[in-house]
Amino acid sequence: MTKILFKNGNVFYHGKLQKLDVLIENETITEIKENISQADRIIDLEGKLLAPGFVDIHVHLREPGFEYKETIASGTNSAKYGGYTHLVAMANTIPCMDNIETIKDFEKRVKKDAKVHTYTYSAITKGLKGEELVDFNVNSKENIVAGFSDDGKGVQSKDMMEMAMKAAKANGSIIVAHCEDEAELEPGACINDGNYAKEHGLVG
Ligand SMILES: [Zn+2]
Repeated sequence: MTKILFKNGNVFYHGKLQKLDVLIENETITEIKENISQADRIIDLEGKLLAPGFVDIHVHLREPGFEYKETIASGTNSAKYGGYTHLVAMANTIPCMDNIETIKDFEKRVKKDAKVHTYTYSAITKGLKGEELVDFNVNSKENIVAGFSDDGKGVQSKDMMEMAMKAAKANGSIIVAHCEDEAELEPGACINDGNYAKEHGLVG
């Protein structure tokens, strides 16, 4: 049995940050209190924050298709250094993450390159066009698919969104909505239509 002791961590415990020691035995936390001393390996955190791995459910890894912006390797590496252990990547890749072949290819790339636990959304509609649903029954079966999102584009038809929500529910999955109604968009609009927009002559 290997006991690893994190000493002098700043630990969020019982609703507040406290200076505590955390003992881990075989990958399970077995004790959180002041002044634990027995362990096979002791890591002195010198007051640094000790937290569970963070989870980011809105990530663009940009692979495949936009590797000049980001890759699975670079994005997950920066996640790791920021304390994130689980990511879900958005589906607006090229090809779009709307079919089983592209999803399986993403899974292969993740196995090869990812530095943290990495998942993806399936698109809601083919090509994020809002016209035709993806195959929810097939895509939701993949373990790497955490849900469905057309992020980057809002689904504009409420009937389409209702069908998508029902399909997600039928498969025990979820919809992650990019809430943008394009009918509200004015040409050149760049900011909420409020006082700041008026004062600065910006199209709201
Ligand atoms: Zn986004």
